[in-house]
Amino acid sequence: MNVVLLGAPGAGKGTQAAILLSQLGVVHVASGDLFRRALEKKTELGLLAKSYMEKGELVPDEVTINMVLERIRQQDCADGVLFDGFPRTLSQAEALDDKLAGEGRQIDSVVYIEVPAEELVKRLSGRWICRECQTPYHEQSSPPKEVGRCDICGGELYQRADDKEETVRERLKVFFSQTVPIVEYYDLQKKLLRVDGNRGIDEVGAEITGMLRAGSD
Ligand code: AMP
Repeated sequence: MNVVLLGAPGAGKGTQAAILLSQLGVVHVASGDLFRRALEKKTELGLLAKSYMEKGELVPDEVTINMVLERIRQQDCADGVLFDGFPRTLSQAEALDDKLAGEGRQIDSVVYIEVPAEELVKRLSGRWICRECQTPYHEQSSPPKEVGRCDICGGELYQRADDKEETVRERLKVFFSQTVPIVEYYDLQKKLLRVDGNRGIDEVGAEITGMLRAGSD
């Protein structure tokens, strides 16, 4: 099963990905995580991506598409992928469809998690992420048991540089202008599942799991 998680920054894609992964038996491919890892390792790709990420802009399509397609060529992705943060533009969506079609595969479902813009800003400004396993926490709605430590792996929690308010506003602007058009693209393909993300984590998770199960029966 290949699934795309679509939603604005702060909609809860990372949180829901963690819930889904344990149930679907697929591999998590998050383009933002791939860029951050490349940046930590100071590779050419990471340094190129840095200037865009800092401003809340999208990394150019060609670079992003090559990176993700290379990742899904790896053997662990053969049985299914949960795409998170990719695709974000129509060109990316089309490139992904072409690549999968060439291998006799396809995107099975696209889950669109919808959350009002003012709630997104609130969520991102209180967000902390595990440096090791990328699990997200929130100061108010889902704090870790121990301040600064991940409940799951004990890793150090940090705040992303691009979660500051000015960059968050730019990321949201980019989402509504460049990523929302792919909602219609997948809707026309009859793959779109809309989910109200402005609810508790477990409630949203249960609805997504139920929808995906119903779709695969
Ligand atoms: P994320 O962790 O998904 O919020 O991504 C963080 C940043 O990485 C974004 O603001 C972009 O600068 C870059 N990025 C991640 N995924 C993509 C993508 N699919 N296309 C272009 N840029 C991306």
